[in-house]
Amino acid sequence: MCGIYGYIGEHSAAQIIVKGLRSLEYRGYDSAGIAVIDNVGNINISKFGEHKSSIDKLTKSIKDDKFNGNIGIGHTRWATHGEISKNNSHPHSDSDNTVAIVHNGIIENYLEIKQKLECLGIRFSSQTDSEIIANYLSYEIKKGENLLKAVSKLKKVIRGNSSILAISISNPEEIIGIRLGNAGGIVVGLDDNATYISSDLSALLPRTNKILYLENQEIIKISNRNYKLYNSDLEEIDRSPQKIEVDKYDVDKGEYPHYMIKEINEQPNSIQSSIAGRINFSSNTVILPEIDNKEINISEFNRIIFTGMGTSLHAAMYGAYIFENILGIASSAENSSELRYRNPVIDDKTLLIAITQSGETADTLSAIEHFKNKSCKVISIVESFGTEASRISDSTIRIKAGQEIGVAATKTLTSTMVTLIQLALFFNLDLNKSVGNTISSLIKDISILPSSISEVLNCETEIKKLGNSMSGYSNILYLGRGINISTALEGALKMKEIAYLHAEGYPAGEMKHGVNALLGSKMPTILIIPDDELFEKNLGTINEVKARGSKTLVITDSNSKDLRTLSDDLIVVPKINNLLSPILFIIALQIIAYHTAISLNLDPDKPRNLAKTVTVE
Ligand code: GLU
Repeated sequence: MCGIYGYIGEHSAAQIIVKGLRSLEYRGYDSAGIAVIDNVGNINISKFGEHKSSIDKLTKSIKDDKFNGNIGIGHTRWATHGEISKNNSHPHSDSDNTVAIVHNGIIENYLEIKQKLECLGIRFSSQTDSEIIANYLSYEIKKGENLLKAVSKLKKVIRGNSSILAISISNPEEIIGIRLGNAGGIVVGLDDNATYISSDLSALLPRTNKILYLENQEIIKISNRNYKLYNSDLEEIDRSPQKIEVDKYDVDKGEYPHYMIKEINEQPNSIQSSIAGRINFSSNTVILPEIDNKEINISEFNRIIFTGMGTSLHAAMYGAYIFENILGIASSAENSSELRYRNPVIDDKTLLIAITQSGETADTLSAIEHFKNKSCKVISIVESFGTEASRISDSTIRIKAGQEIGVAATKTLTSTMVTLIQLALFFNLDLNKSVGNTISSLIKDISILPSSISEVLNCETEIKKLGNSMSGYSNILYLGRGINISTALEGALKMKEIAYLHAEGYPAGEMKHGVNALLGSKMPTILIIPDDELFEKNLGTINEVKARGSKTLVITDSNSKDLRTLSDDLIVVPKINNLLSPILFIIALQIIAYHTAISLNLDPDKPRNLAKTVTVE
């Protein structure tokens, strides 16, 4: 799930590639490197295997004259095979330095291929699966193939999902790219003086909006101002680039020390943008032109399955809760990797709603494909343009949160949640259900959501103190019920992701069945207690937790005096419809996790071992 970037044009390739890599770092930051063909036709490689600082080192190293060429490829890695080290960093070259490649994904049968190549006397210098690509291509080129043909032969011998860029001194004026399955996409950008190729659109948009996407199994040969696209049999495909109209990408940290806290603070705007133009507040209706009612008729489904991974799984759980509640259709949520492989009983009356902010999450794409093969309709909920998820789904709704750089999802989650609410309300209208008080009060509260979020953000200084106090613990328990089980799970996930503290999210009712044994002074408990019909039950839970000596931090929208007395610390967010209040609770939990990470001196934007877009299974 790395980032790859290539350039051919009139300018020096190295600077342009390194800039491109910087914008791809959210995909992996275990190492970074580039390979450039210089003006006398040699391949020069510079790479660094130092977690998080590699691109800075790379930037300095490319000042050398030998990086002055006009053709090159680069990589920022999220290691799957082999430790984080210079040797394992990409680009990889063959032992004679005649071919260089960058690779995103996993070659499942690399050991078998490596052994065959070793028997031919070829030596390897890394532990990666990727190095076999360079050696295999060089072997084929030495047998007389050109680079394009060698890549198409490689396709027939490797298994698994991969995206690859390759250059060779035998064809020094071209880059070959290939996309096999879902290992992150390959997108080509064209302008008058250059051609760019990258894992994703956002890295190309600062350069050009004339874009061409590679489909699964396709190969592309790019040269300066030109390209040729091929299918898996190397037959030429006639496809013109498209012009992408884009929102302005704002990737500056501005006044904030980290992207994460900037993105947390952007939530009044990102939610506003997710709502804008979609709700008619006078008629209490939702407008979603992305959904074609003839294609997806909600009354034809008797079951809705939501799927996603990580934070998107928590959005899926929230979605299942609100859809069942608003539409009365049986709804459930499941982790995509499990859903894909357990062969669920599904048919054309099952609707899949797949949540993947990148539109590239490998597990979620596999789940979508599986459901499509069983004739199910699929709606995907994504942030990014033109992604694979959109291409393989029947309909796609963009959450419109704006680009998120921090690895831990914040504004993309809350925008997904508000998008799901709007989708449920849209379908509600389709089912001709009466627009009763519940729906109109929900729609009214959606309109005040941005200002309610601002009120939560205004309490950052108080919430920060609680974050600081959490940094003294190694274990934290998060409890919620009903719609807030996913809130508790998300709070715990944020804490794990960025503060590296062991945190568990649980349904509060589950406590007596085992988890109570953990309670005590070393395990604080964060309880999500909304002012709803389960309030009394939650008061029971907090009493039980306190009786066992745990410190209690309560997040609520209630003004109850009992709660004030029972909790050691209390965060009160504005009162809003109970189907929307999880959004406010989650924002408070994001701020707690952020400040815990800061007081532990950790970088919340680039947590260890993680990447934002997960394109490997
Ligand atoms: N499997 C390759 C490696 O571990 C590529 C990983 C990636 O996609 O970043 O180097």
